[in-house]
Amino acid sequence: MNEHSKIENMEGCSEIPVLKERGQREVFCGLTGIIWLHRKIQDAFFLVVGSRTCAHLLQSAAGVMIFAEPRFGTAILEEKDLAGMADAHEELDREVANLLERRPDIKQLFLVGSCPSEVIKLDLSNAAERLSKIYFPKVKVLNFSGSGIETTFTQGEDACLASLVPTLKETDEENLILVGSLPDIVEDQLVELIKELGIKEVAVLPGRDRETMPSIGKKSKFILVQPFLTDTTEALEKRGASRINAPFPFGEEGTTLWLRSIKENYSISDDKFEIVTSAPRKRAQLGLKKLRTSLQGKTIFFFPDSQLEIPLARFLSRECGMKLIEVGTPYINRSLVDKDLELIEDMPVISEGQDVDLQLDRCRESNPDITVCGLGLANPLEAEGLTTKWAIELVFTPIHGYEQAQDLAELFVRPLKRKEALLI
Ligand code: SF4
Repeated sequence: MNEHSKIENMEGCSEIPVLKERGQREVFCGLTGIIWLHRKIQDAFFLVVGSRTCAHLLQSAAGVMIFAEPRFGTAILEEKDLAGMADAHEELDREVANLLERRPDIKQLFLVGSCPSEVIKLDLSNAAERLSKIYFPKVKVLNFSGSGIETTFTQGEDACLASLVPTLKETDEENLILVGSLPDIVEDQLVELIKELGIKEVAVLPGRDRETMPSIGKKSKFILVQPFLTDTTEALEKRGASRINAPFPFGEEGTTLWLRSIKENYSISDDKFEIVTSAPRKRAQLGLKKLRTSLQGKTIFFFPDSQLEIPLARFLSRECGMKLIEVGTPYINRSLVDKDLELIEDMPVISEGQDVDLQLDRCRESNPDITVCGLGLANPLEAEGLTTKWAIELVFTPIHGYEQAQDLAELFVRPLKRKEALLI
């Protein structure tokens, strides 16, 4: 073990040793979040203040929209901006004026920082404040950073949602807020189940547009649907809302425990809970039973990527019978994932951060049946004979809730089937 790796104990109820690594990392930057956020928040525009590399990343990852004008773009910092020879603020103001004149449908404009804008210390919070004074109330101008310096790609969503929290309307009423962006259909399913339990005031952050953003106050409760929302959690707590702690809603068990945590906070009866959840639970159990034989006993190794790794490891080990070798994750916020960690039996190596060469050595040595990793590692590992699953696919695919439990397991069955087919 070199100076980049050390084992530390996680404090708390479950004293779990964590292998902490600081070295070369292989992850996407936070701009990636724009790809799903621009579809989710339908009156928003994401203006990245970055380089041509940032523009290429967005274009190639999100694809070019043919039938609709895209709701993201890049204000490109040229060499003269980077050399301090031009006033980047003036140029940005001009870009924003052109954009808002051309696109009256934009009601929320996010100025998104990047590595180059951070390196030249372009103050986008100042710019957002200045532009808000000009365009509010027609357009709300916010800012967050999607830079890849010391961050991982799901932090883009965290930073975006955290930037929205101070702008949410104040309320004295009780309400429940689901936090984290989900495909609309999955969000509707979860909200419907919660309403059937008898909770009427349910909102979602992010709302689908400015009008549907939740209100917040001291009587608000919130529950996360994504485990990577550390800054958003802090911002919501600062506004007086209290968090319902729960395992994340992946699989039948995860979704049931997530809903049960809500039930317990609202004193909903066991009978009511049973009536609302029994049918979708059975459907999910049935779907998972069909796939369990393909996954039972198979070994899995997670490279750190999406921050979904710990809840997914819980799902795969407990509901699909897989054996965890290493669960790598970019950051561990124990207070957000403790409920999932507590449920993992036969504790594997839990690692935080990355020193990619050391981790590759451990992966090769353990020769797992499936390796979950980023795109950059997948092809070389496949060439070496390992079977891989792209971590980013887990963020883009609907995987939360009862109705998606089978689809989630299937995402791991597919690469195994492909490998079998290739061997025949
Ligand atoms: S934000 Fe940084 S890491 Fe991301 S595309 Fe731009 S330069 Fe690359």
